Amino acid sequence: MKHSQAGVCEQERITKQQKCNDAAYWQRENEHQCARHSDPAFAQCEHARKELKHFGKDLAECIDLFLQITHDGPVYVCTSCHQTKFVDDVQELSSL
Ligand SMILES: [Zn+2]
Repeated sequence: MKHSQAGVCEQERITKQQKCNDAAYWQRENEHQCARHSDPAFAQCEHARKELKHFGKDLAECIDLFLQITHDGPVYVCTSCHQTKFVDDVQELSSL
C-alpha cells in the first residue's frame, strides 16, 4: 500500500514537472488568466473577496482582524524605506 502511494506521488511529481517545462501549457495558462482578469464580473468578485478577507463580514470581525494585525505593533522593518510596519503591510522575501 505504501509503495503504491509513493508511486502515485512520484507520478504526480513527474506530471507537474512536465507541465512546468511545457511552454504551450504556460501560453494557455497566461491566456486563460488574461481572459479572466479582463472580465468585469471576475474583477468585481475578486474585489469583494479581498474586502471580505481584509475587513471581515461584519463590524465585530473587522475589529477582530484589526486587533490580530496590530497585536505585535509595528515591529516589521521595511527593507526599502526602513520604516517599521505592521505585519499586514509587509511581505516576507526569500532573498534580495
Ligand atoms: Zn517601505
